[in-house]
Amino acid sequence: MDTILYNGKIYTQDKAYPHCSAIAIKNGVIAAMGNDDEILALSDGSTEKLDLNKRRVLPGFEDTHLHLLFYAIQASAVNLSGARSLEDVKNLCREKIQWAKQSGKWIQGVSFNQDDWDVKKLPTRHDLDQISKEVPISIRRACYHISVCNTKALEVLGLTKNISDEAKINMGFDADGQPDGLIKEDLQNLITEAQPLPTKEEIKELILLGLNHAAAKGITQVHSDDFMVLPGDDGETIMNAYKELASENKLPIRVYQQCLLWEDKSLERFLERGHKTGDDYGFYRIGPFKVIGDGSLGAHTAYMRKPYLNDNGTCGLARYTDEQLLEICKTAHNNGMQLAIHCIGDASLEQALNTLLNLQLNYTRTDCRHGIVHCQIMDNEQNDMFRRLNLLAYIQPIFLRCDMNIVDDCVGSELAKQSYNWRRYEDAGVHQSGGSDCPVEEFDILPNIEYAVTRTNHDTGKSWYPENKLTLEEAIKVFTYEGAYASYSENRRGSLTVGKYADLVVLSEDIFEVPENQIHNINVDLTMVGGKIAYMR
Ligand SMILES: [Zn+2]
Repeated sequence: MDTILYNGKIYTQDKAYPHCSAIAIKNGVIAAMGNDDEILALSDGSTEKLDLNKRRVLPGFEDTHLHLLFYAIQASAVNLSGARSLEDVKNLCREKIQWAKQSGKWIQGVSFNQDDWDVKKLPTRHDLDQISKEVPISIRRACYHISVCNTKALEVLGLTKNISDEAKINMGFDADGQPDGLIKEDLQNLITEAQPLPTKEEIKELILLGLNHAAAKGITQVHSDDFMVLPGDDGETIMNAYKELASENKLPIRVYQQCLLWEDKSLERFLERGHKTGDDYGFYRIGPFKVIGDGSLGAHTAYMRKPYLNDNGTCGLARYTDEQLLEICKTAHNNGMQLAIHCIGDASLEQALNTLLNLQLNYTRTDCRHGIVHCQIMDNEQNDMFRRLNLLAYIQPIFLRCDMNIVDDCVGSELAKQSYNWRRYEDAGVHQSGGSDCPVEEFDILPNIEYAVTRTNHDTGKSWYPENKLTLEEAIKVFTYEGAYASYSENRRGSLTVGKYADLVVLSEDIFEVPENQIHNINVDLTMVGGKIAYMR
């Protein structure tokens, strides 16, 4: 045996054999399970033995919808959330000056909040000029709505003279009428567009940064939606970066690629190059064609059948007409792609359900595992269609932290209580898997599980239709087995079973024993993927 884990409380998620204390692993695969005596008897001179000290072991976590590369780009910026003064901001940014000069890049800071500072005043370009006048610098406020640039950055962005009236609306000016460095809302996109595209080597570094952070949260596979992060790239550079890392055996955890291809003909090009769901490069595999059906709830762009109650007249926005949606989904479906359609509003869901029904009736395929990402606002009839059409639901229980405060105002309580109804999915036997949509929410699985089983904000105590919650066993399945199922790998992962890969997580405390509202405080002590330790605390 290569490795033996013993003296643990192992929850296998395999109904035939739900609990054991020891596992033997060979060639990355579970070779035997049982009690300590049975399994330790299998050890030989070269066996690595790991005492679990009675800790709880679960199958490895999965996050079935996030944006890894986008997260990593943000994570590699200067984090200003801990700054307590303008001086702190300057010092944190100064650490990057040499790097910025050598690489020709900007210094970008994120998550500052002047309300946390000793002097609660927004900085100006003159403040940031004290860090550097040669290197462009921008810092973004924690709210995402405001950034401050130094003078060099304003020059690069063309925002120092002859400024268009349109741009002026989203800029700040000092008493002399000069730009003070503040830029707001969509104008901040200029900053993103001004950054040089990362090279493939840089992308590989970013991927590893993101995946190592995910491994530290017990995640053994991410389903990542990355393609549109690089303007102008149709996914090839990113896929090549992942493939190289996979062939170099450097990926610490598994990646199932969600392929967002929304530019004209980009799906066709993708298919012509021969890519398809299930293409297997070891730890990197090609997943579904990702389609964006509508917008978001907070911005009132999620597409609703009835107008928002708190926003006169608007129903949000559909990204496609019915015909367009059918056309792209048909192309993907007929070329062997799995489909994952982003729908938040009930009208968007209606469009998607009709599309998927049409495909199944007219272009029948077996085991296509199409699904809906987010699936938030809906009535019970739409919920029931998931089972009838055998669709996957990609849910983000952690979204309730924010959404429980806005959904009733947007759609009314009658529809709200039928929305985010994971209980009804579960009772119907729908395959629902869990994710974070990181960086929208952090990819911590344990707080996400807590929301699935409590539907309660542990800080405020506020609950939201708690009758629609899941049991702990169900929630664990959502964040483990169902992620494997959504990636066609439930026969190899998703439970701890002899013959499956040794993908597992060791927790600091027993999730079955701590109070439900304390689940978020449990730490991940160890993450193992294919028998190899991907993270140890
Ligand atoms: Zn997303």
